[in-house]
Amino acid sequence: MFEAINSPWLVPFDGSFMRADMPTAVDDVPDKKSYKKKLAGLVDELDDLQRRLYASDKYSVLLIFQAMDAAGKDSTIRAVLSGVNPAGFQVCSFKQPSAEELDHDFLWRSAKRLPQRGRIGVFNRSYYEETLVVRVHPEYLQGQKLPHKLDLGTLWQERFESIRDHEKHLARNGTVILKFWLNVSPEEQKRRFLSRIDEQHKNWKFSAGDVKERSHWQDYMHAYEEALNETSRPWAPWYAIPADDKSFMRLSVASIIVDSLSKLDLQYPEVTRAQREKIRGMRELLEK
Ligand code: ATP
Ligand code: MG
Repeated sequence: MFEAINSPWLVPFDGSFMRADMPTAVDDVPDKKSYKKKLAGLVDELDDLQRRLYASDKYSVLLIFQAMDAAGKDSTIRAVLSGVNPAGFQVCSFKQPSAEELDHDFLWRSAKRLPQRGRIGVFNRSYYEETLVVRVHPEYLQGQKLPHKLDLGTLWQERFESIRDHEKHLARNGTVILKFWLNVSPEEQKRRFLSRIDEQHKNWKFSAGDVKERSHWQDYMHAYEEALNETSRPWAPWYAIPADDKSFMRLSVASIIVDSLSKLDLQYPEVTRAQREKIRGMRELLEK
């Protein structure tokens, strides 16, 4: 099974992750020129890796992004995947569940959108919301039609167990799972919200609901800390990426993906001597 690469941002597998110890900012942020150059290099490498992934047709890759609002999920996904063949990946965004989705278990809607072998699937939010936003707002559970009497003392542990089992099953069957928590500070989030108000071209991004959600910051942080501790495993690692500087965040995400996929040693399929002869025969046929 796939094993996580080492990184200062890797969430340990033994439950010892403390959110407060993880920085949201670092000192050595890249300047614009070196950022662009490094990103372009990583994007090229990722494109090459995706071609090999497709040709070898064994693994699929699932990238999960979770974060508070305005942490930069969208723009990170865009920056990192910008150079990859569009036929080689798909992005799915998970919003509030629809009536049809609520008629199924909580993993159903994302299970339908898992990437096939050879492809990269990106989840912008995911089933983790079921242990994050739903935990902060347990009233959402009322709409979930759960058959048993709700016991909030055990429900979240049960969900973590379902998620761990699900991810282990996927990993055993060839899905490489990498999970990114974009760790933004409340101060930086405030700055970004203010710029959505002050800069006209960003007005469309502003949401009063997002501002209200800020008042639950500590509850969210508690929920993230527990979710990451309960579900970071060698075959489905979480990385807590400092997100106050977007360039640093994007480069960190891109290099973790590239380093992880490089470890798979993806090769183009070997062509046997018999196949090669057959291909040569085809050349003669074409030339006739
Ligand atoms: P953006 O604002 O950048 O377009 P977004 O991911 O914030 O992207 P929104 O439509 O603003 O998209 O918000 C989606 C909302 O759906 C989030 O508040 C999220 O918490 C919520 N959501 C996602 N999954 C669930 C779920 N399973 N149950 C309840 N709410 C959910
Ligand atoms: Mg939003």
